Amino acid sequence: MNQSITKLSKFSSAVDADIFEHASSLGFGDIHFKHDPDSGLRSIIAIHNTRRGPALGGCRCIPYPSTEAALHDVMNLARAMSYKAAMAKLPLGGGKAVIIRPDHITDREALFEAYGSFVDELGGRYISSVDSGTGVADMDIVARKTKFVRSTSDGGDPSPSTAMGVRRGIEAAVKHQLKRDDLEGTHITIQGAGHVGYYLAKELHSLGAILTMCDVNNSAVERCADEFGVTIVPANEIYKITADVFAPCALGAVINDKTINKLNVSIIAGATNNALASNKHALILHNKGILYAPDYVINAGGLMQAWIRDEQALREKIYGIYDTLTALFNRAKENHVSPALIVDQIAEEIIFGTASN
Ligand code: NAD
Repeated sequence: MNQSITKLSKFSSAVDADIFEHASSLGFGDIHFKHDPDSGLRSIIAIHNTRRGPALGGCRCIPYPSTEAALHDVMNLARAMSYKAAMAKLPLGGGKAVIIRPDHITDREALFEAYGSFVDELGGRYISSVDSGTGVADMDIVARKTKFVRSTSDGGDPSPSTAMGVRRGIEAAVKHQLKRDDLEGTHITIQGAGHVGYYLAKELHSLGAILTMCDVNNSAVERCADEFGVTIVPANEIYKITADVFAPCALGAVINDKTINKLNVSIIAGATNNALASNKHALILHNKGILYAPDYVINAGGLMQAWIRDEQALREKIYGIYDTLTALFNRAKENHVSPALIVDQIAEEIIFGTASN
């Protein structure tokens, strides 16, 4: 393993040991920290694996309760990117970045320029794109400092591609679980009306699905009600809604001890990274007969867009998410396990070259 984890001096040796242990258990890779006092940048870039190519992954800019929370988030996300790239059969490794969002960003340009320099220092081993809390305009700023960036205004917002892939994944899950060939009249709840949630609602509305949505940001979800006639529910009520599909498109770990017994759906299929709080929850869903579409397979459309320039080739690649998920659901069914508990094994077969396809 290529380890170059930079020590933060304030970390105690006990915490360091935990971090290295955690890094080792996830199969890392290297992790880089940057503090730039002038711009206020506090950022972590985690590179999980570069075996199949450079580590392309988004940069998340959200508040974190602690550096440790940010570190755990970026590590889990980076690992998921390795597996996502492998399942998407792209020549890429896996990495991710976080910028710990300050209470007030006084100079966003300076912040993202400093972040761009940080990305550049890694010499192309990590290629940045967007994630929660960052957008195309931010990546344009990053591009002033490094060529190792995607999702700039040249390449466009990845969210419509992600949403298209999630829609294809929902179609595959509905076919597998409910034996339906289309989404007409299928009731789908969407948590989050942000970048992906909005475009997913648009896709699903055009196919005749019945939609219920929530967001902590009222104006975001009201826009979906105005444009697509979705029913709005308060954020904490989304889990209780009886529906065919629940599509989490907000933040991670939403399927947890508190929410899992409220769910009254047949399928969980959404864009959220690390939607399951733990593997235990995959098992519980499986035992309840709820089909789970693994996040990093279903939400790979944005990654595909970041890498593939040709429009037709991109669309075909995104449409292929249907077949990838169908094959995964079938293999999971044959083995009587949750797709979430078999997908890592399949991705590892691809990353380490033991897969037959
Ligand atoms: P976003 O920040 O644009 O949207 C997230 C939305 O969720 C926001 O509108 C926010 O107000 C809302 N939200 C936050 N907490 C909530 C809660 N408790 N209940 C309801 N709504 C809540 O992010 P996005 O780009 O749409 O991404 C959504 C998820 O999909 C993230 O987990 C992201 O990592 C993942 N993802 C996004 C992409 C992409 O192309 N944008 C690609 C792959 C995965």
